[in-house]
Amino acid sequence: MKRIDERDTMFARMNYKEGTEQYNDYYERNKDKKEKDDDIRQRPQICGEGTATYSPINSPIADANFRFLSDIKALSEGPVNPNKVEINEDEMTRKIKGLTLHYGAKLVGVTKMEDYHYYSHRGRHEEVYGEEVKANHSYGIVFAVEMDKQMINRSPQVSEVIETSKAYVDAAIIGMQISYYIRELGYEARNHMDANYLVVAPLVAMDGGIGDIGRNGILITKEYGQRVRLGVVTTNIPLVCDERVDFGVREFCKECNRCIRTCPGKAIPSGDPVEIDGIERWKIIQEDCYKMWRSLGTDCGICISSCPFSQGVPLEMIERIKDSKETISEALRRHDEKHGIRPYIKEPPEWL
Ligand code: SF4
Ligand code: SF4
Repeated sequence: MKRIDERDTMFARMNYKEGTEQYNDYYERNKDKKEKDDDIRQRPQICGEGTATYSPINSPIADANFRFLSDIKALSEGPVNPNKVEINEDEMTRKIKGLTLHYGAKLVGVTKMEDYHYYSHRGRHEEVYGEEVKANHSYGIVFAVEMDKQMINRSPQVSEVIETSKAYVDAAIIGMQISYYIRELGYEARNHMDANYLVVAPLVAMDGGIGDIGRNGILITKEYGQRVRLGVVTTNIPLVCDERVDFGVREFCKECNRCIRTCPGKAIPSGDPVEIDGIERWKIIQEDCYKMWRSLGTDCGICISSCPFSQGVPLEMIERIKDSKETISEALRRHDEKHGIRPYIKEPPEWL
């Protein structure tokens, strides 16, 4: 699989200001994207005034989380203790996984880092635009923090972006604690957090055995569906790796299509997965998804709440999905019976 270029992601593209070196370089090479991007760039910001969900009191809750993340992102890398401690890889894996869960993650896995886990070039920040990403760590510790079901079921209201931004903060802090610890032991470690990733977190999570990627491009875990946010720490401390787990997400998505029906941006592809950059997968129309975010004022989340896995498919059914279409139909029937077209809580939480 080819490496993904961070410069092509919507968050990076939206940072290119007209007349700057980055803007000229990017649209010189991607003329087809310029018109659509210029149009989206003129729209109000997520959490900003002029969006459908804007509230001068509540929207800044999420903004504050994103500002905090931006302030701490420089701590993702740091000096390594010159006095290296000898470790045993089994014991260290057990300890790091246990610590990650103790700090608040719900799922954790370890994978050997592959070339395709890393972005090819950085794009999100002007000062590093175009920098080649070095695939310099052997292991990835990948973990998931849970997002509250009630908050996500209020998508696309402000509650949703409060919850996603909170989960980004939770993941960033856990990643900081783990990476600081590993560096303390005398080994390299880097935290990959919101707005400061060198890796594509869902790909690392898939290979680390904590889930599989669904039709809408978001990781699905057995336990929490898509109601998770991911964190990754890459390192050269020796660890024992987990295996990738195929529990039938592809088979389920082929039958389900619930997210296609509810997506307000019409950004989720129908039909079978197609070959893109060397692998068979579904690819959302990221421009249409992101445009919807800038109109709603939150990161939408409707597909996350619509996904039956996010609402809970019983584990004993999940074990049968791969080989039984009847199980998939039964899971979908139960989901629709309980939630209709999608679960939706209209009222914000009482404290909000
Ligand atoms: S976040 Fe919203 S607009 Fe984007 S793919 Fe999901 S449902 Fe569609
Ligand atoms: S809603 Fe259905 S089709 Fe969409 S990602 Fe979830 S399981 Fe797959």
